Amino acid sequence: MLDVVIVGGGPVGLCLAALLLRERHSVRVLERRGAPGTDSRAIGIHPPALHVLRDAGVHDALLREGVRVPGGVARSRGGVVGSVSFAASTPANPFVLTIPQARTEALLARRVDALDPRALVRGAVVVGLDDGGQVTVSAGGRGMTYRARLVVGADGARSTVRAVAGIRVRGRDYPDSYLMGDFADTGDDGVLAVLYLEAGGIVESFPLPGGMRRWVAHTDTTLHGATAAQLATLIRRRTGVSLEPETNTMLSPFTTRVRRAERMVSGRIILIGDAAHEISPIGGLGMNLGWLDAAALAPVIGAALAGHDPGPLLAAFDRTRRRAAGRAVRQSALNMALGRPLPGPVLAARNAVLRQAFGAPWLNTLAARRFSMQ
Ligand SMILES: Cc1cc2nc3c(=O)[nH]c(=O)nc-3n(C[C@H](O)[C@H](O)[C@H](O)COP(=O)(O)OP(=O)(O)OC[C@H]3O[C@@H](n4cnc5c(N)ncnc54)[C@H](O)[C@@H]3O)c2cc1C
Repeated sequence: MLDVVIVGGGPVGLCLAALLLRERHSVRVLERRGAPGTDSRAIGIHPPALHVLRDAGVHDALLREGVRVPGGVARSRGGVVGSVSFAASTPANPFVLTIPQARTEALLARRVDALDPRALVRGAVVVGLDDGGQVTVSAGGRGMTYRARLVVGADGARSTVRAVAGIRVRGRDYPDSYLMGDFADTGDDGVLAVLYLEAGGIVESFPLPGGMRRWVAHTDTTLHGATAAQLATLIRRRTGVSLEPETNTMLSPFTTRVRRAERMVSGRIILIGDAAHEISPIGGLGMNLGWLDAAALAPVIGAALAGHDPGPLLAAFDRTRRRAAGRAVRQSALNMALGRPLPGPVLAARNAVLRQAFGAPWLNTLAARRFSMQ
């Protein structure tokens, strides 16, 4: 019998696997996809998550490939509203690292393979769970069954584990839509993150490896079928920045919502990552939150496998991680509110307040800490 089966080999499941394998637990990660993902969804890795990824053994590889973003600037109508530096607030890793999610996942998968080449099982679709002292996981297609002491559902927002365990989700849809795309960096902002607080809605821009930049623009409706040229035009109109549509490598319209599991633990089944809490991508917190779940869960699993009563430990895990998710949900809601369209005079008044706030050192440090998940 295995110690742990992790359902889902996304960034969160792979990170937990690396943390557990390092402690010599027997682990299988069952991943539906037959090949590594290619999605460039999450790009920002915050300092607390970098700390976790150091323990997982991928920190140095990530630093070699990623871009270190030392701070950000907020602009509006051609002027500066304020700026923050991550240096003062995070001495250990004084930056947010940007790297496409697919690369992060590839580095984590490589690390898991190095720790145990049998651990990551691709093409295994989990279809059922049975909690009868041990947990039995049925992986469809190949008709395989795995027995483990504990099962972790890291299988994303539409979690099968969550559904089979009968854990309900609550949440709501936000009115905000965005259009996101990666383009060659044609500007002078270098490694800075930039927020354009404009009347038509926010535009965000972040450096990426390979001379690229991620652009995210608030839109009135979800622009299904939009083209790179349309996003470039929208950005030029709102910010004055010209992009080259032919350099676009990724384009994605998305809506925003929050979904939270009522509990993260049910007997020997534990949820982490998006399976437990799906939050808006604005603010770049979801994947980071999942890694912090993994870091909190790994020692609890270690103690349970060593014979300690897992009940109180898992109850504390459930309580503290759901509280952390609540904080992240509120932070992302605030980030989205900051980016909604506003009539010109209201925007000017709001920006005047923000200018004052960014100018106050303690508020500036607070903002830097909030933006970098401290
Ligand atoms: C546009 C966008 C931008 C984002 N930007 C950021 C950002 O900058 N920073 C940030 O922190 N977060 C960001 N996020 C959120 C981030 O992408 C997610 O929080 C993150 O992917 C969650 O990781 P996960 O491993 O929990 O779930 P997932 O990434 O969803 O991985 C789940 C895995 O489980 C597998 N799986 C599912 N069902 C089964 C099954 N039945 N059997 C076997 N395997 C299964 C899936 O194939 C998948 O590989 C963004 C999201 C979006 C949409």
